[in-house]
Amino acid sequence: MKRLSVLLLLLIFINSFSFSMELKKVNKNIYMVEGNIGLPSKENKGFISNAYGILTSEGWIVVDTLSTPELAKEFISKLKGVSNKPIKYVFITHYHLDHYFGASEFKKEGAKIIGSKGLEDFYTSGKADLYLNGIKNSFKGIFENVKLVKPDIVIKDKRVFTIDGKKYIIENVAPAHTSSDIIIYIPEDKIIFVGDLVVKNRIPFVGDSGSNSKNWLKVLEKLKNVDIKVIYNGHNKPLDKSAIDFTYDYIKFLRNEISKMKDEDLSYDEIKEKLSNVKWKKYPQFKAFHFKNIYKIYNDLDFEF
Ligand SMILES: [Zn+2]
Repeated sequence: MKRLSVLLLLLIFINSFSFSMELKKVNKNIYMVEGNIGLPSKENKGFISNAYGILTSEGWIVVDTLSTPELAKEFISKLKGVSNKPIKYVFITHYHLDHYFGASEFKKEGAKIIGSKGLEDFYTSGKADLYLNGIKNSFKGIFENVKLVKPDIVIKDKRVFTIDGKKYIIENVAPAHTSSDIIIYIPEDKIIFVGDLVVKNRIPFVGDSGSNSKNWLKVLEKLKNVDIKVIYNGHNKPLDKSAIDFTYDYIKFLRNEISKMKDEDLSYDEIKEKLSNVKWKKYPQFKAFHFKNIYKIYNDLDFEF
């Protein structure tokens, strides 16, 4: 009995470190793969985020491309296992590696890549190349085959696609999580795809150089008033609207506290210390994101009016 349980534990242990991608049906025509929690590693091969496929009569609509061409290829083959229809559109919610770096593989399939004006600027300014090189250096051996692509269709403000009589409202809400965020809202189904703008029971990442926490809160305030049943994001299982409050409360708390302490002339180190023991400490990515978030907001507050 004891030996059996040791064996079982060992199996669970091995399994938790091996890479597997499972396509799950989460709605009548929506499928998802769910990434691991954490940073890219040899074990997870960069599979750290979700991607979605929406099956329509015209073909697949994909939201986010995973971190590498290898992962994208596997995701595509799983979608093709459900339906061999072409991949028509690929929406990139923002420029972070786990949403954008698999894009070249979809392009090979003939898909139109859709992203924000911010994503296009990121690509054309050369910032995307610098970012890719930095990532290649930080996480060796995972991102070697990444080829960046330019969006074919650029969302400056808002655009509506109609497919199977359903509206897909694409809105550029940047700058918020990054300078390149878009959301995809399907009013008929009360479904929204938000990238990393809404998370639950993990720490939102505000530390991107292009983030804007003030505007991010405005976006969340607007979303609170939208008729939404299900939120699909980059890192959670499907969520309900309470996730908007979770994200809002954390960002609002940091902004309020940091602002107050700056007015009291506390130094950055003192502020960091005072905010090291907050109720969000128990959530994943606290170590990786929380202090970067404090640093970014601390600096941004000087430039806000
Ligand atoms: Zn992100």
